[in-house]
Amino acid sequence: MKADVAGAQEVVPKTKLTDQTEVDLREWAEANGEKPFRAVQLFQWLYLHQVVGWDEMTNISKKALNKVAHQFSLERIPIVEKQVAPDGTIKLLQELHDGHRIESVLLNHGDHYTVCISTQVGCAMGCKFCLTASMGLKRNLTPGEIVEQILNAQSLLPEGQTVRNIVYMGMGEPFHNYDNTIQSLKIFLNPHGFGFSARRITVSTSGIVPGIKRFAEESDIRVNLAISLNGVTQEARQKLMPVSRRYSLEELIDTCKRFPKEPRKRMTFEYILMKGVTDSMASARKLVSLLHGIKSKVNLIPYNEHDLLPYKSPDPAAIKTFHQYLLDHGILATMRVSRGQGISAACGQLATEATPRPSDKPEKSDRPESC
Ligand code: SAH
Ligand code: SF4
Repeated sequence: MKADVAGAQEVVPKTKLTDQTEVDLREWAEANGEKPFRAVQLFQWLYLHQVVGWDEMTNISKKALNKVAHQFSLERIPIVEKQVAPDGTIKLLQELHDGHRIESVLLNHGDHYTVCISTQVGCAMGCKFCLTASMGLKRNLTPGEIVEQILNAQSLLPEGQTVRNIVYMGMGEPFHNYDNTIQSLKIFLNPHGFGFSARRITVSTSGIVPGIKRFAEESDIRVNLAISLNGVTQEARQKLMPVSRRYSLEELIDTCKRFPKEPRKRMTFEYILMKGVTDSMASARKLVSLLHGIKSKVNLIPYNEHDLLPYKSPDPAAIKTFHQYLLDHGILATMRVSRGQGISAACGQLATEATPRPSDKPEKSDRPESC
């Protein structure tokens, strides 16, 4: 904050403390006459102890705290709705300062949870099968808005239950908000704060090739990468995923082949099974040959239907046959079990402000999601 000659003070807008990495805070401390270790202290209070008030940061002097509080806000994005499914899946609706709403989904695994987080309000990628696409892109989330989804999730869990895994599979395309996604990953991985292990975090992309290439260079962020494939030929894929017109399937597969894979790590390919669209045996055969030579695993996702979209989930027999074919041909393939039935909470199938496309049926609900 600067003071002019007359003593009037120029108002500097507050940024969120959660937008800052430890390096940012260290730089801020140095520039503001504070010891660099304040950055570690703040990280510990924010993410290890997950406090909500300045007065809880008891090992930081009042004077130092005043300086921090003057510059940064500690407010978290509020949870405006919480829904719990019979299987324990929790869906959180959170409201941003400008009124936009985002969703996160908590998947229960007994004593721990996987949290599916959003990186954007809506999405610009326009995938034909995805409900988030129908919102268009409203805006990117800031690093803090991404990080606070995990703070909010943890705040709801009873003593002894923790968020163990994070998947970037909520609303939005992480590599279309590249810098903020990276900033949030740095915060999650910082050992003074959350201290997540890199193998417990997965970033999912629709296949933005320059983003994947850049990500390959981030040598200190070796989290898991998942590619939403969903089509096994250029023609099939570009019908479903417009991003494929810009970055072809061939270019995508070539980039995946070159992506650095650490020992014991595999790249995940997500493949949605849609009745009559992606579930044929010809597709299964093509999928096997496409992934030849890539250290990978395939996550098969039976399509989550929604009234506003025309696609259908395949018959259970077709799902089983497709899965078995992959296994028989040496592909490590898993089936994603549909979670959150009854509260419509599937990762990648979230929308808070959806508008039906012109060719779609009239709206039934103004807040559709599906699982
Ligand atoms: N934008 C990123 C991450 C969010 S989408 C991406 O596309 O990878 C997360 C996953 O949900 C993607 O694999 C996507 O293909 C999948 N998905 C989207 N809509 C779906 C639906 N209706 N049923 C099943 N999976 C869906
Ligand atoms: Fe965006 Fe992913 Fe949905 Fe495609 S599948 S529209 S990239 S959120």
